[in-house]
Amino acid sequence: MPDCIFCKIIKGEVPSAKAYEDDEFVAFADIHPKAPVHVLVVPKEHIESVNRLENEQLAGKWLLTARAVAHKLGIGRAYQLKVHVGKGAGQEVDHVHMHVLGGWRGEV
Ligand code: AMP
Ligand code: ZN
Repeated sequence: MPDCIFCKIIKGEVPSAKAYEDDEFVAFADIHPKAPVHVLVVPKEHIESVNRLENEQLAGKWLLTARAVAHKLGIGRAYQLKVHVGKGAGQEVDHVHMHVLGGWRGEV
């Protein structure tokens, strides 16, 4: 998707602080962090919304990748996973992404 900011990050056309990458997913720091640790776990395939997500295997791997990223970043004991679905719920970028938030004092 040429105008998708996350597709551009995936292709390396826009810089990001990558925390993890494999064949299917990338995780990078949110540019406006809402917690001491805040990364986005993003499938490389451009899927606009959870409402358009049909691949069950990808959906399962997405959750397990987010969990693995939380552990890799040292916040595996306490973290939040959030997905906004639709503009009315706060979805700003139309390429599915899971927020991983954590690192609060005493909770790492
Ligand atoms: P959402 O509101 O769930 O669509 O979340 C989109 C998130 O993407 C927001 O938390 C933004 O801060 C973040 N974001 C937007 N552009 C970038 C970027 N270029 N690099 C990293 N994070 C971004
Ligand atoms: Zn995209």
